[in-house]
Amino acid sequence: MALSSLLQKLLFVNQYNVKNGRIEILGTPFIMLDASDILVLQEIDKTKMYNSVKKSSRSNMKKIVQHAQVYKNIKGQSLMNIANLSKKIAKSDEGMIKTLQDFFDVYGLGKLEIIDLNNQEKSAMIRIEKSTLASEQLKIKKTGKCVCTLTAALLAGIFSYIFDKDVDCVEKTCLAKGDEACDFEVS
Ligand SMILES: [Zn+2]
Repeated sequence: MALSSLLQKLLFVNQYNVKNGRIEILGTPFIMLDASDILVLQEIDKTKMYNSVKKSSRSNMKKIVQHAQVYKNIKGQSLMNIANLSKKIAKSDEGMIKTLQDFFDVYGLGKLEIIDLNNQEKSAMIRIEKSTLASEQLKIKKTGKCVCTLTAALLAGIFSYIFDKDVDCVEKTCLAKGDEACDFEVS
């Protein structure tokens, strides 16, 4: 099984565990669910889900950076980029952006691409070409609205951490609507 490079690093420092029926990443329990169930669950209370996921993703980012800062000294360079995520990322920071993509990969929501990143204005444009949620929605039926609310919530939390400011994320275009890709605006 191929693991994302971030999970490999976490595995290496014993911070990614699948044991006794539990999956833990950095001490936080994770549960795997079918993407089609997520589509249903997020409809129950979108605002509540958005706020809750945003909060936990921001705190997960904080936790992962803190752990990496501890381990980078013991384990050499491999965790340096994660540790550096606490610094502001510029669009030219290839290593940091790659690390952020690796972090996002863990969630299985699709490949994150940073279209624009403005640290001064604390805004970003993110694209996901083949969103897992949108692709799953298309299998059921094409819809008139954006369906990647969970993804937007996760991005809001991640960028609130990176910008060190409470920002929100709105999905502007969605594959599930027939758009070319899912585009998210963070501001
Ligand atoms: Zn979408």
